Amino acid sequence: MRTVRTIAELRAAVAARRVDGQSVGLVPTMGSFHAGHLSLMAAAREACDAVVVSLFVNPTQFGAGEDLDAYPRDQARDAELAAAAGVDLLFAPPVTEIYPDGFATAVTVRGITEVLCGDPDRRGPGHFDGVATVVTKLLNIVAPDVAYFGRKDAQQVAVIRRLVRDLDIPVRIEALATVREPDGLALSSRNAYLTAAERQRATALHRALVAAERAVAAGETASEPVLAAARAELDAAAIAPEYLELRDADDLTAVTAVTRPTLLAVAARVGRARLIDNTVLEPVPQPAAVPAAAGAPGEGAPTQ
Ligand code: AMP
Repeated sequence: MRTVRTIAELRAAVAARRVDGQSVGLVPTMGSFHAGHLSLMAAAREACDAVVVSLFVNPTQFGAGEDLDAYPRDQARDAELAAAAGVDLLFAPPVTEIYPDGFATAVTVRGITEVLCGDPDRRGPGHFDGVATVVTKLLNIVAPDVAYFGRKDAQQVAVIRRLVRDLDIPVRIEALATVREPDGLALSSRNAYLTAAERQRATALHRALVAAERAVAAGETASEPVLAAARAELDAAAIAPEYLELRDADDLTAVTAVTRPTLLAVAARVGRARLIDNTVLEPVPQPAAVPAAAGAPGEGAPTQ
């Protein structure tokens, strides 16, 4: 594995792989690798000839007062893990390489960035401007055939799919399942902020999602009872969520019932960590109405 720090070096290294028609996969990350990141690298390794991982703690996606300075960083360990995962190129640029003096452009995806994590009363859409801008730059720099993202950041995936369509960027976006601890907690670099007691409480996020899944599996479709089932788990762990919402799984519009695949997304502060998690609720298929005269044996009209 080669670690490169400049755009010119990375472009040259990717071009060298392209000469003999190799396919290229990109895994954008902010480092501090865990099994979630490694699952994306494994998928890229499986499907692509050349695997590029970017490691860049992107300052423009952190709001004022967020954890940019505290964000866990360990490039030596990350490089070892990436090499062991079969990564070919690790792109770890300094901030000035991505945002040189005079940098003045932002990519804004409207609508879907203004809810959930982008709600103006919470982090604001600026977070997703930062994400959309850096991902657009990475896609332009690497020009991969496939880029890999985690469904744990479901809104981020929706934003990236939107911008790739809107800006005609020729890349396939793969979104992979959330990797969890055995007790259900979604792996996250920010889990490092949790004390042992908070780490225990944090498992309530996953329990909340499972409670909602069970309610839907039992036939519930109205949003309030589904959300109440989830909220009860958060309450029991004394977690007041920043949001707990049902949204259309594709365009993130608000929904009032689970009548098709529906995203249930949660964000909550637990101690110093701001954690997010989600699941897609699949309504149980309703049996087709059976005409009275055509009832099964033992139903409907008397048989004698
Ligand atoms: P980050 O370094 O947190 O920006 O994450 C880099 C990529 O890894 C993003 O596409 C995330 O969605 C993905 N990711 C983060 N946590 C997980 C997880 N637990 N399972 C799967 N993918 C994840």
